[in-house]
Order: sequence, then C-alpha cells, then structure tokens
Amino acid sequence: MSAQLILGKEISESIYSELRDRIESLKVGGVTPGLAVVLVGEDPASQVYVRMKGKKCEELGMHSVTIVMPEDTTEAELLAKVNELNNDESIHGFLVQLPLPKHINEDTIINAIDPRKDADCFHPANVGKMLIGDPSFLPATPAGVQQMLVRSGVETSGKHVVVVGRSNIVGKPMAAMMLQKGKGADSTVTIVHSRTKDLASITRQADILIVAIGKAGFITGNMVKDGAVVIDVGTNRVDDPTAKNGSRLVGDVDFNEVKEVASAITPVPGGVGPMTICMLMANAVTAAENAALSR
Ligand code: NDP
Repeated sequence: MSAQLILGKEISESIYSELRDRIESLKVGGVTPGLAVVLVGEDPASQVYVRMKGKKCEELGMHSVTIVMPEDTTEAELLAKVNELNNDESIHGFLVQLPLPKHINEDTIINAIDPRKDADCFHPANVGKMLIGDPSFLPATPAGVQQMLVRSGVETSGKHVVVVGRSNIVGKPMAAMMLQKGKGADSTVTIVHSRTKDLASITRQADILIVAIGKAGFITGNMVKDGAVVIDVGTNRVDDPTAKNGSRLVGDVDFNEVKEVASAITPVPGGVGPMTICMLMANAVTAAENAALSR
C-alpha cells in the first residue's frame, strides 16, 4: 500500500483564503490586524521563521512589525518591550520567538504577555482555557495538525490517537486538543515520551499517530499499524552530500517505510510546517476580531 499524502501546503492555502475574507471584513470596519514578532539574538533558524512570518503577514495585507533585539538584551529590557506591545493598539497579537538567550527566563517573558495578544497561545491562562475546552486561541502547531485531520476527512471521534512527545509546545497541547469534545477531536488519547517502556507496542495501537520528538526517522514501518494515519511534526536537518547545501530536512518518521504501511501520511517538508505559520496568522486575526468587538 502507498499512503495518501496530507499536504499542509494545500490545506493552508484554503485557510489563507478564509483568512483573507476575515481580514477584509475587519478592514471595512476600520481595523487592520497587526502581528508583531520579537526576535532576540541571531539564531539562524529563528531568523528564517521570523522572516517567513513577516512575509506572510504582508501577503495577507496585515500590519506586520518585526523587532530585532541584540543577544545581550536584558530580561528587563525585553519585559519593557513586551509591555510596550501589550499597550500598542495597532498590534493585536504578538509573540517572542523562542528559544531565548540563556540569561532570559522564557516563562517570565511568556507570563508578561497580555493573554488577549498571545498569538502563540503559550500564556498559562490560554493553556488553561484550551484545556477546559473554552479556548481564546489554540497553539499553532497542534491546531495546524488538527486542521489537517479535519480538512482531509480523517475521522477522529472514538479513534485511538497516540502522541509521541510531551513538550509544552507540541505534544501536551496536541493531546489535550484531541481529547476535547467536538469536531476533529473526541479521541481516545495516549501520550508516550522518552521514559515510556516498550513504546513501539503503543504506537502500533494508534489509529492516528502524531510524532513530535526531534529524532530523524525514529518511527519505522514496524512501529505503525496497517492503515494508520501518520502525522509527522518533526523537522530535522540531516547531512546529504547529494543536496545542494549538503543537508536536507527530514521528519521524525521514516517516510519511505511508513508510507507503505499507513493509509495517509504527512511529508517533511510540505506537511505540518506550512500549517504552523498559517494558524499563527489565524490567531492574530482572531485577536483583532476580539479587539474590534470590545471597542
Ligand atoms: P522538544 O525537544 O521540546 O520535546 C521532544 C519530546 O520528545 C520530549 O517530550 C521528549 O521526551 C520526547 N522524546 C525525545 N526522544 C524520545 C525518544 N527517543 N522516545 C520517545 N520520546 C522522545 O521538541 P518539540 O516538541 O519542540 O519539537 C519536536 C519536533 O517537532 C522537533 O523536530 C521540532 O523541530 C519539530 N517542530 C516542528 C514544528 C513545525 O512547524 N513543523 C513546530 C514545532 C516543533 P521527554 O519529555 O521525556 O524528554
């Protein structure tokens, strides 16, 4: 069997088209949704993400601000910037790109963001609201995965979803979202992680396997049930002497093996990746709609 491909590139385009309509309505009402991204230091991967976010905002006709601060920025200086953005009426959503330099406490910064402007949905108030099933925003990567399932017609109700990885950014919120009542959820959820014993015996029970661990090719064909849907969140750069720049991007799933077992699978690149930025834009538009309603 060769699995059907679930392509984030295509699915995100249909979401962008819905977002354009929402942005247009906001503009008619005199509001241009604004997203700011704060980058501290010169992490090359972060620089790429931040550039992509700014470009996408502009393509959508949103107000986009990128703030680059030097590596030696103090925590107090970054807090002052967060506070400035909290009070800037032209900015409806913003995020501070992680990881931050070691001398800055990430939790302190996340906690200082006004939850109404928390485009990444990392603030504990928003995480709590998501957990009780009353979200203001959803964290971008898990929300993107959920949209991929819904929009490619994958039934999730009553299915056994196994999430591999328990980070606060992907694994935990992903599991919490699949557990909720409603469309794209209602699943029976298991989370596995680095301390799980006999992990393969659990992944083999998954109807839907969602993998986010950051280990290239970790999930092999014999760890997947026949006909399972496999979502690969991992992005790992591996050496490839045949590639132009000597490396290429691969997921946490051994794509060539698993596509022969799964009924549907996301590739890397072109799978979950494009969905993350798309859902971030959706959060910024939602924040602008909420702000417009409370004017
Ligand atoms: P983290 O490093 O924060 O978390 C990794 C998780 O995987 C941890 O819970 C860890 O377990 C678990 N893990 C690590 N090794 C194993 C193992 N051998 N067996 C079982 N579990 C293991 O990573 P993130 O969640 O932030 O990211 C995961 C991957 O997803 C990365 O490749 C990242 O680049 C990618 N990513 C992609 C995005 C996209 O837009 N496509 C967005 C965000 C992330 P433990 O807790 O026990 O240590």
